[in-house]
Amino acid sequence: MMIPSADLLPGESHSVVIDRARLATLVEGAVGGGLILDGALAVRDGCIEWVGHQKDLPGSYLGWRRLSAEGRLVTPALIDCHTHLVFGGSRAHEFELRLQGSSYEEIARSGGGILATVGATRSASREQLIHDAARRARHLLREGVATVEIKSGYGLDLATELEMLRAARAVQREVAGLRVRTTLLAAHAVPPEFAGRADAYISQICEEILPAAVAEDLVDQVDVFCETIAFDLSQAERVLEAAHRAGLTTRIHAEQLSSSGAAALAARLGALSADHLEYLDAAGVHAMAGAGTVAVLLPGAFYTLREDQAPPVEALRRAGVEMAVATDWNPGSSPLGSLLLAMNMACTLLRLTPVEALTGTTRGAARALGLEAQVGTLAPGKLAEVVAWPLQEIAELSYRIAGHDPPDRLVHGAWVSCRDLAQRGSA
Ligand SMILES: [Zn+2]
Repeated sequence: MMIPSADLLPGESHSVVIDRARLATLVEGAVGGGLILDGALAVRDGCIEWVGHQKDLPGSYLGWRRLSAEGRLVTPALIDCHTHLVFGGSRAHEFELRLQGSSYEEIARSGGGILATVGATRSASREQLIHDAARRARHLLREGVATVEIKSGYGLDLATELEMLRAARAVQREVAGLRVRTTLLAAHAVPPEFAGRADAYISQICEEILPAAVAEDLVDQVDVFCETIAFDLSQAERVLEAAHRAGLTTRIHAEQLSSSGAAALAARLGALSADHLEYLDAAGVHAMAGAGTVAVLLPGAFYTLREDQAPPVEALRRAGVEMAVATDWNPGSSPLGSLLLAMNMACTLLRLTPVEALTGTTRGAARALGLEAQVGTLAPGKLAEVVAWPLQEIAELSYRIAGHDPPDRLVHGAWVSCRDLAQRGSA
């Protein structure tokens, strides 16, 4: 599969050997994040060609240009595999309501929640949507993220869902160094025009919105919010099957506020991931393990909604389910603009290990997006999307609550600060 490179100047190649690196390779099966303390990594034309101990570097690389990591921790660039970065308006008022005791479901049922953002997004200009989303994306780029997934789902009509996806595609063009994967989430909520007629809206998604998005090449994945305040299992199945017929991969927002069997549905239909999973039961864990469904954990929503039931991380770990961690950046349940903070929350609130948190924002996130053949680990054949942190240990990435200095990113055979990358082209 061809994917757009997140490279800064497409067409220009670079070949270099990075040495004096503490390499966190994150390759499957390796313990401790596959850490190589005295590592070296050979990059040819933007692809990783060799990884290992510096003393084992083959002689054929000895004449190559060297780039020292100066003993720093070197990892794959991070991947935020679940965001809602394109939206209009703010939901700070609902934050205040929740502080006064209202629940997320109560606010949603009284016309707030997702539908409040739908109104603000429908009335926003294209320029405003792109400008705001690109600004948010630069916050992620600054902290070492090279791939961001962006969902639609605040339009809930043909015109605005397509506008959101166009805005997401525009973010990739606007923000150099960032790859965007787009997800159609038209089945995010029942739009007011279809109140009480959810099945008719599902038909519109399958017969009009999805085909139009495919025809314009706006969509890479399809997602459904399966929940009592959104869509049920049979409605979710209709959307996912339509997506599969169109040749797209799928996900489900599953088991966030109640136990529904949506994760088992994701497994049965071959969706790449089930996301949230606070109320995932043993049968769902078993089904996901059997199908290889990625468990995408979203601690920002868990934190914001002050959930008291956490996803069953120990059961997922024992069953061998691959876990990913993402920001779920959205204006309501997770106004979280830092993937590193999501990693900290995944450890502190959900009890992931720091290695699991980093794996979840690299290899696991790549799998949730179907990009595992290209990115997510430091291994021969992968794209050389590599960052060097001003840190020594993997645990330091998740241990800090905030206050990270931006890492350096490998750009055409040199280190460039992600702070500088994020400032390029920004107004
Ligand atoms: Zn979400």
